[in-house]
Amino acid sequence: MQYELNIAHLYGDLMNTYGDLGNILVLKYYAKQMGVKINSKVVSLDEDFKADDYDIAVFGGGQDFEQVIVSKDIQTKKAELIKYIESDGCLLAICGGFQLLGHYYIDAKGDKIPGIGALDHYTEPQDNNRFIGNILIKNPENGEEYHGFENHQGVTHLGKNEKPLGMVEKGYGNNGQDHTEGAIYKNVYCTYFHGPILARNGNLAKNILMEALKRKYPDQDLSKPASLEVPASY
Ligand code: GLN
Repeated sequence: MQYELNIAHLYGDLMNTYGDLGNILVLKYYAKQMGVKINSKVVSLDEDFKADDYDIAVFGGGQDFEQVIVSKDIQTKKAELIKYIESDGCLLAICGGFQLLGHYYIDAKGDKIPGIGALDHYTEPQDNNRFIGNILIKNPENGEEYHGFENHQGVTHLGKNEKPLGMVEKGYGNNGQDHTEGAIYKNVYCTYFHGPILARNGNLAKNILMEALKRKYPDQDLSKPASLEVPASY
């Protein structure tokens, strides 16, 4: 049985701060070792995103300039993205992508950039400051630690039905106050980590691949085939 996953790289030509594209390379790297074929496609301005066509979506970070452009276009994909998320589609969103999945982001100039409100967070500006540096967080439910690098102006406040990706042990996180970093909602993972996050945190790559496989192949026992064993390098 050939397992196969389709990845949508949302605005991959515009939202790619610090090589966030690398997250797709990492997914491909581990998928290959698991015997899973990956097809990936950039879905950018004026292109359709169809919820049923994809198993994983990756949405990178961006500077305010690109975010304004993407903010306008993403409204045309809003309904399908919400359908995708609500039907348990896997999505990894970094920084600017994270912000645009929420209600809004107020940029460094004070302009309000609308998100799609698929997730219940919102992002306010800082007064002439950015959160920059190495960061370490720990997920309180599975105990996993994630290492990364953050660089953001926005301060994000999570909504009621979102859980953090982790609690900050070192660094700033979503807002520098409540110790949360990132967000998890259904199979959506959001974070401020660049780097890219999956290159330094292979266990998260594995979690995303396994969730996507479970959703696509619900009748298969994915714990059995040797080809799906995750390499020990985790
Ligand atoms: N422009 C946004 C901010 O400064 C997002 C930055 C990013 O994606 N690195 O908060």
